[in-house]
Amino acid sequence: MIKLKKTPKIAEQLIIAFILLLSTLVMLGWFLNYPKILSIIPGSATMKFNSALLFFLSSFCVIKSKKKKHPLILLFFTLLVLIISFLTLIENLFDINLFIDNLFVEDIYSSKNPGRMSTATALCFFLFSLSLLGLRSDKTKKGSQNIVYFIIIIAFISTVTFILDIPAEYKTDFYKTMAIHTSILFLLISSLLASKTPNLGFTRVLIGKQSGSNLLRKLLPFVILIPFLLSYFLLSLLNKNAIEINFGIVLYTVILISISVTYTSIISIGLNKSDTERKKLENNIILRNQELMQFKEALDRIAIVSISDNKGIIKYVNNKFCEISKWSREEIIGNTYEITSSNHHSKDFIEKISEINDSNNTWIGEIKNKTKDGKLYWTETAVIPLKDKLGNNFEYMAIKQDITERKENEELLASKYVKQLETKNKELEQFAYIASHDLQEPLRTITSFCNILYTEYNEKLDEQAKISFRFIRQATGRMSSLIKALLDYSRLGYEEELILIDCNIVIKDIIEDLNTTIKLTNTKIEFKKLPEISGYKTGVRLLLQNLITNAIKFRKKDTDCIIKINALKKENFIEFSVEDNGIGIAKEYQKKIFAIFQRLHLKNEYEGTGIGLAHCQKIVNLHGGEIWVESSLNNGSKFYFTILNEKEKK
Ligand code: ADP
Repeated sequence: MIKLKKTPKIAEQLIIAFILLLSTLVMLGWFLNYPKILSIIPGSATMKFNSALLFFLSSFCVIKSKKKKHPLILLFFTLLVLIISFLTLIENLFDINLFIDNLFVEDIYSSKNPGRMSTATALCFFLFSLSLLGLRSDKTKKGSQNIVYFIIIIAFISTVTFILDIPAEYKTDFYKTMAIHTSILFLLISSLLASKTPNLGFTRVLIGKQSGSNLLRKLLPFVILIPFLLSYFLLSLLNKNAIEINFGIVLYTVILISISVTYTSIISIGLNKSDTERKKLENNIILRNQELMQFKEALDRIAIVSISDNKGIIKYVNNKFCEISKWSREEIIGNTYEITSSNHHSKDFIEKISEINDSNNTWIGEIKNKTKDGKLYWTETAVIPLKDKLGNNFEYMAIKQDITERKENEELLASKYVKQLETKNKELEQFAYIASHDLQEPLRTITSFCNILYTEYNEKLDEQAKISFRFIRQATGRMSSLIKALLDYSRLGYEEELILIDCNIVIKDIIEDLNTTIKLTNTKIEFKKLPEISGYKTGVRLLLQNLITNAIKFRKKDTDCIIKINALKKENFIEFSVEDNGIGIAKEYQKKIFAIFQRLHLKNEYEGTGIGLAHCQKIVNLHGGEIWVESSLNNGSKFYFTILNEKEKK
């Protein structure tokens, strides 16, 4: 790309340098009386001092011709070219002397009108200066370019007469005293000026990308070169008297026709080929378009489609979008998706969708929308980024399916299940409550009769009976604590109201209560600023206390116990974690431990009833969350639980 732009610039600079050099040499030639540089072909016309001077001035004007702000000096140069050439034209036209031809040097080489430019040269400079002035305004640019091409034709004819070696006496007065280097410099400087208006007139056709311009570029060298070469060939034969003029003309005609026919045929074959190629491509495009239209029709039939720009402004919606949202196309286009927002989703949720702005990903999810008349509808939505030529996301296509019916059914089913589950749970808890409550009575009777028996008959009992009594008392003790735990479990969550709880205070209270154990076991409890949650006070306290006491209880014997408590805010809930560096739990037991009375160790290894984590599970469920553990044997455990973030939930 850069090379293509640079090349013409370099060519332009070379041409300007050449013009400046040649014109300077000619001027020096005049001062130093060096005729070889004044007329390159011996005996032919000389380039006059004035011509060289005007070329010198003109080349400066060409360099700056495109810049809007012309320094005054350039305008002065242009006007100087205009005045000198105009006065010379007047001199030639009316055959008078205005004393401008030998202003700077004396012409001793010309017999007629010494120092005066030929009419052709003066006319070319006059037109050239007009053309330079014309370039200064957009209105006159095109006319200015036409003038330049006129100069090119004049200079070209003059150059041809030199190459074909036409003697001066055969030339018209107009051309007679125009030097070969003058013609060439006119060709160069005019072509340069024509290239300054590439988007206009003939230059545009000449350098354009269309097929007409292509054809012109192929034909032009031929149209100019072939007749020119043939004329040169014919004239040299005639000059040598090698052939007769009649035969020469016939030969010229036959050769010109043959070459023209061959060349144009070759070009036509090429054109036909590219035409066939183009037709093929056109057909392909038509087919692809048809295919795409079919895809679009199919998509429109089943999906709600919309396209928005980088700022979320909707630019396109299909009929289905309007049909379902009840908004008209005119009302939607130019708006954001706020127009169909139901305000159901949290900020986090919406931010997640906009995260695809800078990515390649497609977002897929369920969105609750609102129609113009306020009805809610659910859509399964895919948001796909569309790329521009540079590979940047510039538009987003949203393809949606109306899933309102399915969602409503799901919600209905879910609420049915929830109700059923709630009833069953209540029944179960009722049962556990009654059972544990009623079991306490016979257990108390057994315990007190055991005590009576043991005190009254202690001395009559042998050693074996005493041991049996001790076992019975231990078993009833354990049974009593199991029943108490069961009773606590069934009571959980019934007495309290949801309140705002500062978890930092809860943890501090627990640490205070467990102070002795913590010191004895050398335990460290680390926690950073924990959030406030809306929950059941006793429940939350019990939950955290159970997890902390378990972490201490199941510590490694040879390592200080470290407990880390953290909380992370997620979309609609807060995720807590209680991590320890204790004995860990094997993978296969990680689900089982949350069931009631499930323990992994013998009573004499670790104290406990196996109900602590069941408590935790129930408390977490009461807060609309979940509990789970990540652990491996000997590598500590990390208990996670979530609590619905009622405070920020929308
Ligand atoms: P308990 O602590 O009374 O045995 P839990 O319900 O609190 O009952 O715990 C159930 C079982 O889960 C425990 O017996 C123990 O095997 C395992 N467990 C609980 N917490 C941890 C922990 N932090 N590290 C290792 N094992 C644990």
